[in-house]
Amino acid sequence: MTNKLDELKAENTLKNKAKPSWLTFFYVGTTDDIFSEDIRRVFIINLFASVGVLFTLPLGIVALYERKPILGSFLLLIALLYTVNHLYLRRTHNHALSGNFVIYPLYILMIYLVYTGGVKGTGHVWIYCVPAVALFLHGMKKGLIELVFFTLALIITMFFTNSHFDDFGYDPSLKSRILFSFIVVVFLSGIYEYSMSRFNQELKETSAKLKLVAYRDPVTELLNRRGMLQRLEASSYSSFHLLLADVDFFKRINDEYGHDVGDYALVELANLIQTSLPEKGLASRWGGEEFLIAVCDCSEQEAYTLAELIRHKIEEHEFVYSDHKFRMTLSFGIATMNESTTLREAITLADGRLYHAKRAGRNQTRRN
Ligand code: GH3
Ligand code: MG
Ligand code: MG
Repeated sequence: MTNKLDELKAENTLKNKAKPSWLTFFYVGTTDDIFSEDIRRVFIINLFASVGVLFTLPLGIVALYERKPILGSFLLLIALLYTVNHLYLRRTHNHALSGNFVIYPLYILMIYLVYTGGVKGTGHVWIYCVPAVALFLHGMKKGLIELVFFTLALIITMFFTNSHFDDFGYDPSLKSRILFSFIVVVFLSGIYEYSMSRFNQELKETSAKLKLVAYRDPVTELLNRRGMLQRLEASSYSSFHLLLADVDFFKRINDEYGHDVGDYALVELANLIQTSLPEKGLASRWGGEEFLIAVCDCSEQEAYTLAELIRHKIEEHEFVYSDHKFRMTLSFGIATMNESTTLREAITLADGRLYHAKRAGRNQTRRN
């Protein structure tokens, strides 16, 4: 049992070590669940904002150097906004608001660049980054709606205002070509985002199914050992009581009535345990006919009383399967995990006490 625990711990440590530290900068320190949608969004916004700073800061300085104070100030303001946004995201993880801080100034900057021409009339070349950012940050529906409005703003700016296009002697067809190529990029980005979100959805569903298989016992539907360990290790409680139960002479049930009856008995036992648990209790199928229960927010005496209650309930229960009727008993070992006893030590203690309960005649609870 302890070997298995070591394996799982090593696996977790390995997982954490595998993440390069520079990545945590973009994940703003929360790398626990990389598949979480929130964490993914925080990551993407941070990445965009950082790339944004890398571009707007030098371009802003160049614009100031080229005596374009409004454009230069605007670009530097965006670089500042994106930096503040990163710090805000680091503190709050509020990606919804942060995403808006990234995308709306970008829309305004792009329209401004198209209108004024930016540095040497090249401002319009940057608009092609808008579709990917909009769809990435706001998803298909909201992203596409915003892109329709952006395209309208683009048409108005290029065709119905006194924009820079007339000042640089461009070919008259340039404006319509910019518009069409922009629409093509919107279309391709939309297809890409759609296939990505479909793929993500499928990945999420598969991951949920795999988690169910990996963390649940199919016979009793309780958490299995891996699931229980994961929950206990992730628990925010610094102290809880562990009740390790083992069915007495279970082999005889299998030998006498067959394996199917044994399986039925395990399911019935799991239900009896599950329905006896307090609100802050968790039960698992720890091994073949072993169950591990964890309870918190209660005294050691209350944990002992719970074990005794379950033990008596099962002792008094008549198991009926077609024309077979039989009774079963449980032995319990109890231990407490707290500041001075680790989870691993508590499990070993409970295991030892269960062994003592068996040696002392079974159908009893041992807490020392
Ligand atoms: P003790 O009081 O010492 O615990 O005796 P026991 O017979 O319960 O202990 P032992 O470990 O010798 O036997 C456990 C049995 O549990 C052996 C195995 O066949 C049975 N078992 C384990 N998993 C399952 C299962 O999923 N279904 C069924 N039907 N039996 C199982
Ligand atoms: Mg047993
Ligand atoms: Mg056993």
